[in-house]
Amino acid sequence: MYTHKQQWLETIQAANREFKDRIEKTKLPVSRTPGSKAVITCMDPRVNLEAIGIPGFLHNGETGSSVRIIRTVGGMAEERSLIIGCFLAGITEIAVLMHTDCGCCLAYDKTDVIVENMGKKIDSSNLLHYQTLLGEPFYERLQKRLMVFQDPYQAVIDEVNRIRNLKYLPRDLVVHGLVYDLTCGSVRVVVNGYER
Ligand SMILES: [Zn+2]
Repeated sequence: MYTHKQQWLETIQAANREFKDRIEKTKLPVSRTPGSKAVITCMDPRVNLEAIGIPGFLHNGETGSSVRIIRTVGGMAEERSLIIGCFLAGITEIAVLMHTDCGCCLAYDKTDVIVENMGKKIDSSNLLHYQTLLGEPFYERLQKRLMVFQDPYQAVIDEVNRIRNLKYLPRDLVVHGLVYDLTCGSVRVVVNGYER
């Protein structure tokens, strides 16, 4: 009997066989291409980066862009990617791309559901340990920790400011803040990093 995970792995392997048959191996991006720009966006698959001129991989496996893509829940930057990106990969300009109807807005409204599900799926001693780690009031501390938000247009301003204030990043790092509207495909520039 297969578990869901095993079934998915089979799908992955079948897709890879089809991929290897289809692609032109000589066009695969083997060498590391330099690039100074990175997009930090949400893991939500509805956020289509073609909306900001970043194509996906071409049918033959060739990459169509040198822009680095960092996907996290909500499009929040995290320290590792920022440090490696800025001090090794050569990133000098970042666009934070958030979007409407983000899971972070849902998580803000349903923090109680998250906690309830944690109670069901992890050992109570581990949950208690986590609650102690975060302290009281637990819901508010958890929301802060998860960086959930109510309004993506405000959240992107806050996130750009947060990145700009990180002491370990270059002072001349350019950071833009954008919001993608899922319903119409339009992208609004909320923070223009050149106008700092
Ligand atoms: Zn999202």
